[in-house]
Amino acid sequence: MHTSELIQRIDAVLPQTQCTRCGYDACLPYAQAIAIDNEAINRCPPGGSAGIALLAQITHQAIQELDPECGTHSPPTVAVIDEEHCIGCTLCIQACPVDAIVGANKLMHTVLADRCTGCDLCLAPCPVDCIEMQPIDREWTDELAQAARQHFQLREQRLALKHDESASVAARVLANKPKVSTQADSSTHRKATIADVLAKARARRQS
Ligand code: SF4
Ligand code: SF4
Ligand code: SF4
Repeated sequence: MHTSELIQRIDAVLPQTQCTRCGYDACLPYAQAIAIDNEAINRCPPGGSAGIALLAQITHQAIQELDPECGTHSPPTVAVIDEEHCIGCTLCIQACPVDAIVGANKLMHTVLADRCTGCDLCLAPCPVDCIEMQPIDREWTDELAQAARQHFQLREQRLALKHDESASVAARVLANKPKVSTQADSSTHRKATIADVLAKARARRQS
């Protein structure tokens, strides 16, 4: 089987919570590590033993117990924000890999439970500890995993675009920037500007 096809097949059975508990930045890098570097198939707590069995079928690695260093398999949860205490810092939005949090700077934030993968990644950045994980009465289905993959990919694309934009803005600014002046030059310039402002203020007062 071609490596890219193998990566795709592995990624297709990973739960797509993007929780990073496997030690990789997201599900796809873990799939790549299994396919290319023969990484162990027992590092995904959300997938649990059922996920390990599927990975064993695809990779022909032996079935193993979940690696306890990665965490334990637990029932699905969702993040809930205590809106009364939210200070609107947006740090949780920046941490959420699937855009499941909505809100704006200095305004209350809230979690879209249907989108939340239960990854926990928003908990640590919250400066006022007003997010908690709560159990939810639903199974983590293939449909939810596919939706989470799509939300993750859209976010990655958006961030890459933003990075390109800011990089090109920075390049334009640098290209248009005047030659850096020496300390003496800038100090003389500053003094001249202050003198100019004072002179104008004095002239206004006299008139
Ligand atoms: S669900 Fe979490 S632990 Fe499992 S592969 Fe994806 S990122 Fe890794
Ligand atoms: S809201 Fe929090 S727990 Fe839910 S997906 Fe986003 S970061 Fe993960
Ligand atoms: S990190 Fe906490 S305080 Fe900041 S916006 Fe999110 S929920 Fe509100």
